[in-house]
Amino acid sequence: MTELHTPYFLVDEERLVRNLEILKDVAQRSGAKILLAQKAFSMFACYPLLAQYLSGSTASGLYEARLGREHFPGEVHVFSPAYREDEFEALLEYADHFVFNSPRQLEKYALRAREAGKQVGLRVNPECSTQEGHAIYDPCAPGSRLGTTLANFNPDQLPLLDGLHFHTLCEQNSDDLETTLDAFEAKFGPYLKGLKWLNLGGGHHITRADYDRKRLIRLVRRVKDRYGVEVYLEPGEAVVLNAGFLVTSVLDTLHNGMDIAILDTSAACHMPDVLEMPYRPPLQNSGQPGEKPYTYRLGGPTCLAGDIIGDYSFDNPLHEGDRLIFEDMALYTMVKTNTFNGMPLPAIVWRDKDGNQRVVRQFGYEDFKGRLS
Ligand SMILES: *Cc1c(COP(=O)(O)O)cnc(C)c1O
Repeated sequence: MTELHTPYFLVDEERLVRNLEILKDVAQRSGAKILLAQKAFSMFACYPLLAQYLSGSTASGLYEARLGREHFPGEVHVFSPAYREDEFEALLEYADHFVFNSPRQLEKYALRAREAGKQVGLRVNPECSTQEGHAIYDPCAPGSRLGTTLANFNPDQLPLLDGLHFHTLCEQNSDDLETTLDAFEAKFGPYLKGLKWLNLGGGHHITRADYDRKRLIRLVRRVKDRYGVEVYLEPGEAVVLNAGFLVTSVLDTLHNGMDIAILDTSAACHMPDVLEMPYRPPLQNSGQPGEKPYTYRLGGPTCLAGDIIGDYSFDNPLHEGDRLIFEDMALYTMVKTNTFNGMPLPAIVWRDKDGNQRVVRQFGYEDFKGRLS
């Protein structure tokens, strides 16, 4: 890995295919259709590979829908909290399934979508929180704008609908899906009969080692048997879990009450979830602070005092030019990078199953300047 210019994202075909095989197996055993949620990972260079294993892609709006249509053979689904009038016609060119967030949006757009031959769905809110600690990832939190609650659901609109959708999970196992599905069925089950499909959203950590896939398969089959509908899953994270890295170099080391290293990658610009979620990303050949003899605080090269990736310990002192490899960096990274402080964007590198590395994309000054005027 030493010949390439850092920082760069490295996506590994072998690890990606391992995930894709698991997902394909789940789809085959359960009868569910599985889509890539592009929000988490939009490296379109590998969409043709993903399409060999998945049924299509899902989008959060016009641009993702277009990217999916242009590069990902298969179905294109879209959900938006509120569609824009000035984009809707264009969206009809790209998406097959339209999921709306509210009765008003349904009223405004559903007939137009149907007349264009599209499938129409409504996102519902089963009002069943199953996650602790991450309120910003909980669409069932009080006051949520995401999904129609039973109180706001208008059964008179059923003739407009082909399906229902809920998305309530984040990095969760299938026991939480079961809890949510029970709550969904208690509220909306009667309305699902007669429709064509149910979309169970994303947040299913299907490819994680401890994920209970048997239960997921049983739940999907239960829905299909009970209601006679197709079932969709639209994971983002699970598709690329542990399939990517962020390779970075040490630019400088200093000491201020503790050892500090400045890297050529930034939490704020290249892995903003580290600050937003927040979490401490795994780093190869490192330990918890104090676990190995040399502990460093790793930070980025921006002016933001809080541009800190975390504290890690090492077997040996760090030196200028040392390479560090952050793990699990394919998801919610490339799609969220920014050029704050004029930071360059990391290159995107593909490692095929024979170990050959290819730079798929490099970025430069124009990518910084092009967003400004
Ligand atoms: C974010 C999102 C997903 C994907 O979620 P992951 O946690 O990446 O699996 C799927 N569907 C919807 C509607 C989403 O908002």
